Amino acid sequence: MAQYEYDLFVIGAGSGGVRAARLAAMSGARVAIAEEDRVGGTCVIRGCIPKKFMVYASEFSHHFKTSKGYGWTIEGASFNWPAFLTEKDTEIARLSGIYVRNLQNAGAELVHGKARVVDAHTVEVAGHGTHTTDKILIATGGRPWMPADLPGIEHAITSNEAFHLAELPKRIVIAGGGYIAVEFAGIFNGLGVDTTLIHRGPNLLRGFDDDVRSHLAEELEKRGIKVVLASQITAIEKTGGGLISKFSNGHDCESDVVMFCLGREAYVEGLGLENAGVKLTEKGAVAVDDYSRTNVENIWAVGDVTDRINLTPVAIREGQAFAETVFYDKPTKFDHEMVASAVFSQPPIGSVGLTEGDARKQYGKVDIYLARLKPMKYAFTGGDERALLKLVVDSATERVLGCHVVGPDAPEMIQMAAIGMKMGVTKTQWDATCAVHPTLAEELVTMREKHVPMGLGQVA
Ligand SMILES: Cc1cc2nc3c(=O)[nH]c(=O)nc-3n(C[C@H](O)[C@H](O)[C@H](O)COP(=O)(O)OP(=O)(O)OC[C@H]3O[C@@H](n4cnc5c(N)ncnc54)[C@H](O)[C@@H]3O)c2cc1C
Repeated sequence: MAQYEYDLFVIGAGSGGVRAARLAAMSGARVAIAEEDRVGGTCVIRGCIPKKFMVYASEFSHHFKTSKGYGWTIEGASFNWPAFLTEKDTEIARLSGIYVRNLQNAGAELVHGKARVVDAHTVEVAGHGTHTTDKILIATGGRPWMPADLPGIEHAITSNEAFHLAELPKRIVIAGGGYIAVEFAGIFNGLGVDTTLIHRGPNLLRGFDDDVRSHLAEELEKRGIKVVLASQITAIEKTGGGLISKFSNGHDCESDVVMFCLGREAYVEGLGLENAGVKLTEKGAVAVDDYSRTNVENIWAVGDVTDRINLTPVAIREGQAFAETVFYDKPTKFDHEMVASAVFSQPPIGSVGLTEGDARKQYGKVDIYLARLKPMKYAFTGGDERALLKLVVDSATERVLGCHVVGPDAPEMIQMAAIGMKMGVTKTQWDATCAVHPTLAEELVTMREKHVPMGLGQVA
């Protein structure tokens, strides 16, 4: 008789956990996976997927505006928030159901309830008793971080609640400068909500290329979002008229909803990792090696709970690499280099590789190719929308180190650019690619003039 009930017990049925559990079960291993909420995790239930539906819903107002320039008259257009939420939630339930079926078809056993590590070989699931297992995979993801001692914080919501607001607010204040904050600012603004985005830093999207950051802030303001930088909310007061956010710059801002998007933290609370001696990083994430193994020999962790690159495809690939290593006898490290990402702001961003700043630090001399232009779609529709395309190239080897795009379809473009960049494409090879015309993407392969940034001796 086997020593343990299971070969693998996965905690968390999100992007990383589900992929790992399925692949492990398909190898013939006895696998259980615990989930305290709905199967699918952040991405499917309260992240990427519902967010993208909200982006789609909100983009129509801009399309309607643009359509006027093309001769359309759209009268009486209105938006029905409850109707949209019903459609969105139906689709989310369908997708969650697919995840459940995929787990079942692979032979993994789904256990509903909050799981807790009792010791290195025992997991307890609320309402389902304790289970013994040879190996444990922690895939519990992350959750929004909130400043617990901020006066009035109980009145603020996070992205979790933004997907289920009983009614669409007339005014919203969003605190934060990361991708979730700018995406929701675009969503609510597009849906006609008076939107203020407040961020304590000097610019939005820390970690992104500086040209992208300043370009986006300008574009958001052109769309009507009030962007308040270098300031933060110090208190929230509830009044008869709504919520008053006190800003550190001395201003007050009244709104119906205040949303905090100040970052996310690894979700390890109540997980009992200390019972097995699993070490955490300084920031409270589960510390792992390149194979996603923790300091405890039979316990692994993948996805946001390890706080490496917190994106769905990364969690999936880490889960896959874990299963290949442990259950298919094929040691696999997921390579975290050149992972492309998108920000579904309006306009959206696609980015892969190094920012100009990081490239200069790592490579010394780099060449910059940069184009700012009005996308053809807006040529005669009024407005002043601009796209930005930027390449960062290692001067010594000509290797393309970074590619950054702000503008229509940037997320779609960057997926393709990432292929060449992962392969180590040089600027000469990049330029040998013939353009697709007329597109915005063609600018990427037709930038020949090196850009000299202001302050480096010449006027750009
Ligand atoms: C608003 C928002 C938008 C996003 N947009 C994008 C995007 O556009 N593109 C992108 O790539 N990424 C996006 N992300 C990030 C992406 O959702 C995460 O990187 C991804 O879901 C991480 O997967 P995971 O498996 O690590 O964790 P999760 O998907 O969070 O899954 C963890 C699961 O574990 C469960 N769990 C936790 N603790 C326990 C426990 N003790 N017992 C049982 N179950 C437990 C949770 O309920 C959850 O279902 C977004 C995130 C948010 C919040």
